[in-house]
Amino acid sequence: MHYVWDDRGRRYVDAHAGFGVAFLGHSNPKIVGALVDQALKIVTVPLSFRIPLEEELVRALEGVAPKHTEVFLFQNSGTEAVELALKLAWTFTGRRKLIAFRGAFHGRTLGSLSVTWEPKYRNGFPVLSDVVFLEYNASASVLEEHVDESTAAVIVEPVQGEGGLTPATTEFLQALEKLTKKAGALLIVDEIQCGFGRTGYTWAYEEHGIRPDIVVAGKAIGGGFPVSLVFTREEIAKALLGGRHGSTFAANPLAQAAVKASAEVFVEDSVPARVRQASEKLWRDLEARVSKLGPVRRLKGKGLMFGVELRFPPSRVLGCLQEQGVLALRAGATAVRFLPPYTIDDESISRVVDALEECICREHSC
Ligand code: PLP
Repeated sequence: MHYVWDDRGRRYVDAHAGFGVAFLGHSNPKIVGALVDQALKIVTVPLSFRIPLEEELVRALEGVAPKHTEVFLFQNSGTEAVELALKLAWTFTGRRKLIAFRGAFHGRTLGSLSVTWEPKYRNGFPVLSDVVFLEYNASASVLEEHVDESTAAVIVEPVQGEGGLTPATTEFLQALEKLTKKAGALLIVDEIQCGFGRTGYTWAYEEHGIRPDIVVAGKAIGGGFPVSLVFTREEIAKALLGGRHGSTFAANPLAQAAVKASAEVFVEDSVPARVRQASEKLWRDLEARVSKLGPVRRLKGKGLMFGVELRFPPSRVLGCLQEQGVLALRAGATAVRFLPPYTIDDESISRVVDALEECICREHSC
């Protein structure tokens, strides 16, 4: 379901989807059913007991987990998963330095905040000093100057979401893979927003033919339930055994049931193929109707993570879209961002594009 209704019964196409969380649709019946069933059985299990759900989950994730990873670790939110990825990199390599990118957003706890670019999120907090920020999509020669034998990890979003819907180039990601491997550093790919089908690939990095050491997933992966996952190789996960990381709620049975049901929906419904199909009409319509409007700098994004960069702040356009029955959000200083559920149909795509064209031209003459 890609609609929501307000208290007056007015219907909206929800292309905000709770910052992209409701990618599998609101109240997806399979996910709601799995959560209710599990809540009626048990909601927490002591670590010394195994339940059948764990094995069922492993089987369900086979169709979804990044192919070259061997283990997955549960957390409860995106930022916690990034913290865990950083801890894995520090312990596995025994090094400290991190490389991140201008425009990056990785979360709001102190480790994640330290690799997040925007000063409005960072200012006033004791962020880590061992972080080097480079230009997103920098050339291999610039990257080469910084990825060295003191580097623990490079962390990168294959499509920057919060920072303005900018996709990474293949050359950039391939250079990062090559240089991290050469330096003995880890490549962490943050797929919290762009992963799990949203760009038309199960994981957005797949399009670029790389094999990151750690893949971080969140938002959509629990179908609305607050949960995140870190996928990695066994040798890396082992570096952090013995209670050096933990969380009361991580991998609780409700979270496991939600991820299992989400993975099943993902496979049964061929979500990446559905996204590719929806994206064809969407991008054709955006090109034809929106890309050449005077106030538009350019179209941004990939698949069902899309938007427009305007020549001015987007608040009035966002307000107008809401009046027109379309919910969207901001990205960076000047972009309007849309993160609709994969179930969005042709009629709703037309509604989004119509409303966007009308709102841009109404608020800033075309
Ligand atoms: N990483 C990326 C790419 C994100 O888009 C977000 C949230 O928007 C996060 C990390 C943080 O996730 P959370 O808000 O669940 O902590």
